[in-house]
Amino acid sequence: MTVSLALALGLIYLYRANFTPVKESKLRAVNEDLKIDWNILNDELKEAYQLANELQFKDDKIYRVILDTEPIPATVREGGIGGHNKYQDLLEKDLEQSSMIVGTFQKLDRLRKKLNIQSKSYNEISGLIIEKEKMWSSRPAIQPINNKELTRLHTTFGKRFHPILKKWQEHDGLDFTAPTGTPVYATGDGLVTHSYRSSTYGNVLFVNHGYGYQTRYAHLTKYIVTRGESVKRGQVIGYVGSTGRSEAPHLHYEVLYNYKPINPINFFQRDLSNEEYEKLIEISKQETVPLD
Ligand SMILES: [Zn+2]
Repeated sequence: MTVSLALALGLIYLYRANFTPVKESKLRAVNEDLKIDWNILNDELKEAYQLANELQFKDDKIYRVILDTEPIPATVREGGIGGHNKYQDLLEKDLEQSSMIVGTFQKLDRLRKKLNIQSKSYNEISGLIIEKEKMWSSRPAIQPINNKELTRLHTTFGKRFHPILKKWQEHDGLDFTAPTGTPVYATGDGLVTHSYRSSTYGNVLFVNHGYGYQTRYAHLTKYIVTRGESVKRGQVIGYVGSTGRSEAPHLHYEVLYNYKPINPINFFQRDLSNEEYEKLIEISKQETVPLD
């Protein structure tokens, strides 16, 4: 019994002497590994924060500039995270790495807030893009007649001598000379508000593009859309003719902004190459007498 007891005590002593320190040193090693991992985590957090800053830069300095809208105020972006004592419990634990852990949590909070604001900003930008797209596709931006079919352009917007009435009058549009039957295109998306035959305009179409813009297409041999119809930019809406008060087959084209006629030539550059634009200007120099 005594020998057995002595042997048992001896074994317990040996176990304690050898195994407990092994466990502690293992824990220390694990702890060191964790610290390394923690530092890597912090570095990656820093990288993610920099990426978020890049997104913020593009948002404020590129997207919002293009969309003509104000950047998000710094007071919103850098506003307080809130809950200063959020990590008080952790700090009070007085662990060796408490402040390090709290520091990382706070960095994560700032990143989360930054990304939340960014996400909301992108939602706002998406809405703005849809609205701008609609506006851009509505705005008159192409020629109502294909350049290839255009024989002459009368840049007689403004005051000029009326060829039929023989008196000075405002000419509110441009005259495109082209053979009867040449297709006439809607120059922007919109709604046909008038389609009728007038003694002066002949067969005429009025298109409302919204955003203050309207276009008129006069002296058509015929129109193929009518009042209440929606049209898309580039859609054929009628054909060149010489109806109404007109001297020869041509399209009289007007652009109005807030009901005031403006010179349509400022709206053609969108679908023209430099060469085509030069040709247009060349054609426009050929003659200056309007056909009404
Ligand atoms: Zn005219």
